[in-house]
Amino acid sequence: MRWSLDELYTSFDSKEYENDLKELDQLIAKFNKWANNTLTTSENPVEKIEKYINFNQGLSSLFSKLASFANLSASVDARNEIALQSLNKLDVKATAMTKPEVQFQNFIKEIDDLDSIIDESDLLKEHEFYLLNIKEKTKYLLSEKEEILISKMSTTGSTAWSNLQDKVSSTLMVDISLDGEDKQLPLPVVRNFAYSSDSGIRKTAYEAELESYKKIEKSSAASLNGIKGEVLTITELRGFESPLEETLVKSRTDKKTLDSMFTAMEEFLPAFHKYFRTKAKLLGYENCLPFYELFAPIGEVDMSFSYEEAINYIVNNFRSFSDKLADFVQNAYENNWLDVEPRDGKRGGAFCANLHPIGESRVLANFDGSFSSMITLAHELGHAYHGLNLRQESILNSRYPMPIAETASIFCETIVVNAALKEATDKERLSILESSISDAGQVIVDIYSRYLFETELFNRRKSHPLSVDELKSIMMDAQLKAYGHGLDKDILHPYMWINKSHYYSAGLNFYNFPYAFGLLFSKGLYAEYLNKGEGFIEEYDDLLNATGKNNIKDVALRMDVDVHNPEFFRNSLKLIEKDIEEFIELAGV
Ligand SMILES: [Zn+2]
Repeated sequence: MRWSLDELYTSFDSKEYENDLKELDQLIAKFNKWANNTLTTSENPVEKIEKYINFNQGLSSLFSKLASFANLSASVDARNEIALQSLNKLDVKATAMTKPEVQFQNFIKEIDDLDSIIDESDLLKEHEFYLLNIKEKTKYLLSEKEEILISKMSTTGSTAWSNLQDKVSSTLMVDISLDGEDKQLPLPVVRNFAYSSDSGIRKTAYEAELESYKKIEKSSAASLNGIKGEVLTITELRGFESPLEETLVKSRTDKKTLDSMFTAMEEFLPAFHKYFRTKAKLLGYENCLPFYELFAPIGEVDMSFSYEEAINYIVNNFRSFSDKLADFVQNAYENNWLDVEPRDGKRGGAFCANLHPIGESRVLANFDGSFSSMITLAHELGHAYHGLNLRQESILNSRYPMPIAETASIFCETIVVNAALKEATDKERLSILESSISDAGQVIVDIYSRYLFETELFNRRKSHPLSVDELKSIMMDAQLKAYGHGLDKDILHPYMWINKSHYYSAGLNFYNFPYAFGLLFSKGLYAEYLNKGEGFIEEYDDLLNATGKNNIKDVALRMDVDVHNPEFFRNSLKLIEKDIEEFIELAGV
């Protein structure tokens, strides 16, 4: 139940680790020296770009191997001081790679005929997207002096505001009365009561949570105004049309894709509203759902698994998709790629790390034998399968943007959930469907409200800092538009802008639509799979393989999927709508 990291290094004081660390230092020094000496003139561009790619491949690989070992070691043992120290040291080394990278960006910026230069070399052709992407981004690069000034000023600007918000929100204690006893509890504990099976606790927790925000609302508003104001100033300086455009460029997504996705999402909101109203009835409300009942559990699934049974269940169901996927998971299990045992000092939740330098992956989970923790394993193993399909690529072609990061994981999750639905009792079906629709509701309906809120926030921030009342009112307007008559209009969550930390990161504007895209893209591919059957599988692997070296539109085109057409997103949403219809029928209210 524990993973092996020996394939990376046997320990921090092994010869291999020490040698690699030394080699990293030498390589960074060489890289800096080379950049200083050669990137100053524009002669021999092919040779210089080839050299840069070689340096970068070597450095990325070495760095990722060292950092992964430290990261993974720390993730299962928070008290591993050597791992934490190594991580800090590696962070410092990473900053020494920034200067040659910036020098290279400026070098590329000055090349007018990059396309024909790329044509002259196979190595350059292999990295065409990578190079064109660097060139594209240089459009928004300011002068060296301005870049330095911005980065220095942001440490006392947006970063300082973020730190303040982090401090006040993470230390916020909520006054709550439970079982007649007055208590002070941390915010995350109180928010977790939303999943309680006791309706009274859910309501009390929600009211206590909202009340607690009053203690920090003014400083949160000031932080938010400071951060969003800075973002507006800098994106305008860089020549972006809006902060949204900046996020789209970073996500390799275009506006037309976004528009077609939102067109489809808006059409399907009424289906979700029906779901919320049905859930309300199941919980004994007459019409619509109060906000604090959104996560109320409905029924339960009796299925439980030992670790081995969970893996067998996953492998058997993956086999209905392809032997390659099933054998891959079996191999991961047998070779100890997974660490699933919950224990003291280990990180909560789950994640997958794809280790390109050794062509393997590692999955961390906290397996408790429940149905949902089996599903989590299937999800993370999907990420690992994505890594498998990128193994043969250059490490510089193995990084994919956020909107398609969840493609393989949600796909694998869907395979297993659908298999489970087939053998579940009616009571269990109701519960499985409900939790899957509830998750989708967060990603489609709630994300839509956050997108509306952030759009309005930026619009107004252009002319003035927003007051607490204004922030509350635009949040409630956004929720009303998204949740419609699914939610009780008098019991919303006006303080959601304090709760979601993404709003307080200057580098993560509109960190909402990528979630919706991820879910719908993956579901849409699943719809294609249901249509095409066998023929789908090879194309799917090819698509995963292309995720690190294409724009999202071109990745999708590999499967003849046109993300500029809302029809693709409609097909994904129809799958969720079908689940909603079945849920309503099973609910029988
Ligand atoms: Zn994931």
